[in-house]
Amino acid sequence: MATADRIYNFSAGPATMPVPVLQQTAEALIDVNGTGIGIAEHSHRSKTFTAICEGAEAACRELANIPDDYHVFFVQGGASLMFGQVPMNFLTPDKTADYLNTGSWSKKAIKEAKLFGNVNVACSSEDRNFCYIPKDVSYSDSPTYVHFTSNNTIFGTQFAVEPECPDGAYLVTDASSDIFSRPIDVTKYGLIYAGAQKNLGPAGVTLIIARKDVVDSGSGDLTTMLQYRTQAEAGSLSNTPPTLGIYMMKLVFEWIKGQGGLAAVAERNEAQATKLYAALEASSLFSGTADVDSRSKMNACFVTGDADKDAEFVAFCKQRGMDGLKGHRSVGGMRASIYNAFPDEGIDALIEAMKDFEAEKG
Ligand SMILES: *Cc1c(COP(=O)(O)O)cnc(C)c1O
Repeated sequence: MATADRIYNFSAGPATMPVPVLQQTAEALIDVNGTGIGIAEHSHRSKTFTAICEGAEAACRELANIPDDYHVFFVQGGASLMFGQVPMNFLTPDKTADYLNTGSWSKKAIKEAKLFGNVNVACSSEDRNFCYIPKDVSYSDSPTYVHFTSNNTIFGTQFAVEPECPDGAYLVTDASSDIFSRPIDVTKYGLIYAGAQKNLGPAGVTLIIARKDVVDSGSGDLTTMLQYRTQAEAGSLSNTPPTLGIYMMKLVFEWIKGQGGLAAVAERNEAQATKLYAALEASSLFSGTADVDSRSKMNACFVTGDADKDAEFVAFCKQRGMDGLKGHRSVGGMRASIYNAFPDEGIDALIEAMKDFEAEKG
C-alpha cells in the first residue's frame, strides 16, 4: 500500500506512527539488520535482539537525559497493570499515597491503590466532569508517593508542569498519552510509566523509568514478574519481552531524535494544538470542552452542543479521509488526538472541514 493512501488518523490509541518507522519495520519483519531473520522471529537471547534492546534503552536515556541512578526498562500489561503494580510494590496498609484525581485513568489508578494501602485523594476535578486541572492540592502528612496522570487522554486536559511533591515523597506519573511529547525533568520523579500505543509505538509494551532506590524499596513478597526489580535488573530480558514493540520503540526514539529531540517535537505539538484551538475559538458552531489553562496538546476535545450534529461531523470528516474523531462516550462530541507523529497537514484538513461543515450546516 502506498503511503499516499493513508488517511489522517486521529485515534486516541493505538495511534498514528511515523511513516519512516512503519516502513523500516515492514522491512525488518522480513530481515532485520541483514541477518536473514525477521525481527519477530529472532530469539530474545540472540545478539541481534539484545543489541536492539540495549539500543532502545540507550536511545531513551539520550532523548530524556536520564541519569544513571534511574532504571529504564520495558514491561507488559499496559498502564492498566501499572495502576495495580505501583501500589503493590510501594504501598502497605500502614502507608499512604496521594492521588490527583483528574479523570477516568486516575480513578482507575485510585481504585487499585486502595487494595494495598491508604489513599488520599489530594484534589479532584470530577465536579465539572474533569474539564480542568485543579490548582489547589491538599496533601496528607507524609505520603510515600504522589501519583498523577500527566495528560488526561479522555477529557483532553494536561498538567502544564508537574505538581509540587511534598518532602520525603516521590512523584509517580502515568504519562501514557504525553510521554516524550515535550522535555521532561526525570529527576523530579520516582517512577514514570507509559503504555507505548499513544506516543511511542505499538500496543503491548510499557516503558518504565524508575529511580533505582525506589525500585529497591519495592515489596519482595510479590510474584516474580510483578516486582519491578525483576525486569529492571534483567535489562527487560527476565522472560520473553515484546520484541517487536521494543524494536519499534527504538525506531520511534531515533525518529524523535532526528526531529531535533524533545524540545523540537514540543514546539511542533504546541504549534499544532494552538492552531486547532484557535480555530475552535473562532468557530460559532464548535467549542472546546476543557478550560483554556488546562487544555491538552495531545487530545483536543470539542462539541457542537448537539449529539446528532456531532455524529454528522464525524461522518463528514470520514468522507474527507479523517478517522478516529469520535469522542469518548464520557465527554461525547469529538476528540482529535494529535500525538508526536500526527502530520501538520491533518490539522489543516480538520480545520478546513470544520469551516466547510459550519458553512453548510451551521
Ligand atoms: C490509554 C491510557 C491508559 C490505558 O492503557 P492500557 O495500555 O490500555 O492499559 C492509561 N492511562 C492513560 C493516561 C492512557 O492514555
